[in-house]
Amino acid sequence: MAKTFKIQIKGQVQGVGFRPFIFSLAKQYQLKGTVSNNENGVIIFCNTSKVGVDNFLKALLLNKPEIAIITSYVIDESRYTEFNDFIIVASKTKTQINLPLTPDFAVCESCKTEILDPKNRRFNYPFTTCVQCGPRYAITTKFPFERVHTSLIKFDMCEVCNDEYTNPSDRRFHSQTNSCRACGIQLKLVINFGETITENQADCIDKVVQFISDGKIVAIKNTNGYILCCDAINPEAIKTLRARKIRPNKPFAVMYPFIRMVKADFELTPYEEDALKSRVAPIVILQNTKNTRISTQEIAPNLNQTGVMLPSSSLLHLLMQKIGTPIVATSGNIHGSPIIFEKEETQNQLTDVADYFLHHNLDIQFPQDDSVVKFVDSQELIFRRSRGLAPNYIDAKINGEEPVLAMGAHLKSTFTLVPNSQTYVSQYFGNLDNYDVLKRYKNTIENYVDVFQTKPKTILIDKHLQYQSSILGKELVSKWNANLQEIQHHKAHFASVLGEHDKFNSGEKILGVIWDGTGLGDDNQIWGGEFFEYQRNEIQRVAHFEYYNWLAHDKMAKEPRLSLFSLLDNEDRDYIKYKFSKTEWGIYLKMIKTNRLKTSSVGRLFDAVASVLDIVDINTFEAEAAMLLENCAAGYIKNNPIDFLHNDNYTEIPSTKIIEAILKAYKNGFSKEHLAYSFIYTLAKTIIKMAKAHHIKIVACSGGVFQNSLIINILTQMSKKEKINFKFNRKLSANDENISFGQSMYYQHIKN
Ligand SMILES: [Zn+2]
Ligand SMILES: [Zn+2]
Repeated sequence: MAKTFKIQIKGQVQGVGFRPFIFSLAKQYQLKGTVSNNENGVIIFCNTSKVGVDNFLKALLLNKPEIAIITSYVIDESRYTEFNDFIIVASKTKTQINLPLTPDFAVCESCKTEILDPKNRRFNYPFTTCVQCGPRYAITTKFPFERVHTSLIKFDMCEVCNDEYTNPSDRRFHSQTNSCRACGIQLKLVINFGETITENQADCIDKVVQFISDGKIVAIKNTNGYILCCDAINPEAIKTLRARKIRPNKPFAVMYPFIRMVKADFELTPYEEDALKSRVAPIVILQNTKNTRISTQEIAPNLNQTGVMLPSSSLLHLLMQKIGTPIVATSGNIHGSPIIFEKEETQNQLTDVADYFLHHNLDIQFPQDDSVVKFVDSQELIFRRSRGLAPNYIDAKINGEEPVLAMGAHLKSTFTLVPNSQTYVSQYFGNLDNYDVLKRYKNTIENYVDVFQTKPKTILIDKHLQYQSSILGKELVSKWNANLQEIQHHKAHFASVLGEHDKFNSGEKILGVIWDGTGLGDDNQIWGGEFFEYQRNEIQRVAHFEYYNWLAHDKMAKEPRLSLFSLLDNEDRDYIKYKFSKTEWGIYLKMIKTNRLKTSSVGRLFDAVASVLDIVDINTFEAEAAMLLENCAAGYIKNNPIDFLHNDNYTEIPSTKIIEAILKAYKNGFSKEHLAYSFIYTLAKTIIKMAKAHHIKIVACSGGVFQNSLIINILTQMSKKEKINFKFNRKLSANDENISFGQSMYYQHIKN
């Protein structure tokens, strides 16, 4: 006898074509009932037998849409209801939502084929999407994911689009972002002072192709925000873009039209190729080869690598097919500001940067930069977690039910909201000293709190109370009458890796190696070269790099020569006098005598090594010295690295000894490449020695230093021989982007 069963499915199941998929599967199994989105995911009711519902669920799990992620499912028998057919019913939610948010998906193969097919009705339509692809998070105003809750609501579907939307056998059945040339989004091409060049849709793209080929700079509104584009083979165009953006050296990303062209320019591993072609469509950092035809020196000065991506939207796909050559594609902003997404703002801020603007009239709700990743063999390192990756599903064990907001750090800000049983880690925002970044960070927090209709009861901030995130956190504490807790920066980093690998309950001792630029320590000194031990919900600091003078506040991070100045003793210091003016020398000598602020920063140690090897003395962008040093070390091809540390001191690692040894070897004619490599090798050896001294087999590494692919590579090689199991951040970046998640994990799992 037929019964009625209810199946609740949780996970990333909205905005991924799940309901249409269930609909056709139900038809195939001749089931009658309903499917709808609800606050927890997707809910199905159907009339069948116990065996029938089990078979149906089995088929569902086996054939689910590629971009869906199912985290749990429950079958219950429910009160018998007679259904006459199987239908999709509209969502009705009044309760708080409790499901992962869906990130944006890059354009799928079927849509790419359609827009290049002259016989297809979407030929050349730049906003073609389907249930499998298109913007999601970027255009969401509310949840659950329905057209009325997106920016598409202002476009009424034409009759043909509506037929697709309502036809169960069409691949755009229930596609919430459905539109076409007749009813959809419109392009508009304008010159930089605002005068319209054309609104003819075909002409818009053709003219942009023409402008870029002519060496001009065009600001293009993609579905996640504006990007600035120019010809990647034209050094003059790139130099102009650098000058206008006031960005002398920081690398630009390059967009290629086809994967085969990327393959001709770079030697791709299968992992890199998969990432480039994935629905995330991130920027993948690739090693240059002698065949790389783009203007590499202008794109990423003095670096032997390039950030490469494929088009993420139909608009960019169309454009790139017509251009047929790689273009520079960098976030549309001016130095330090967030990516721009509104037309007025573009014209205010980018008038002096871009020659032309390609606008469109789809509103962006959550603008995001492109994500950036790099591979060390199969290990993916996330450098920036943004479009396509955020705010996707983070699998984290949560203790307790109270809503928590973690404010994160300062330079690479993110926040983490835990309003229910899910953990939502926001995208990367940037440096909160920038007014516009701070505004966007604030607004996004407000949007999230609105979306989840939940006011946090506890707010977590960094111990550094001058961070803008800490200041705002305290304001929110008064506003919402919430509790406040400060969490030490490096302990939060450690907790982020423990959380990502679900290691809080493992019982084993875990060594935390947390190395970065700066973070305020428990002793009010500036930490950055820390070793911790984790066991049974407690974290202890067991060792650190020796303290040295922290000079001239923020200037220290910008001028690698200052870290070197601080790390050398009086005698050796004279050797680097040539790096300073006479006045500067006098000031710094005076400063070092009275200075009381100390640091254990490994990030600054990298700077000092870059300076001692005459690679760079003053950074033009954050982490430039570390990147150049890694680049130099990668040029070492022999296999005879030096370990600069012989004495085994397991409470304070002697940074001054490392620097002295490098200076001596450099004077004795060792090559920069050899010494740069040996420095990184010495750091890796230090971790192994520390693990052995503490009899620990699991080592969790986090902090900005672990974005260095060479150290990851050396550690991975050593791990096999030494039988040490290394854990790195996986879905989150190793840098301060993971602090907010780490704070929430620390709060929930650490007792001391
Ligand atoms: Zn598609
Ligand atoms: Zn239409």
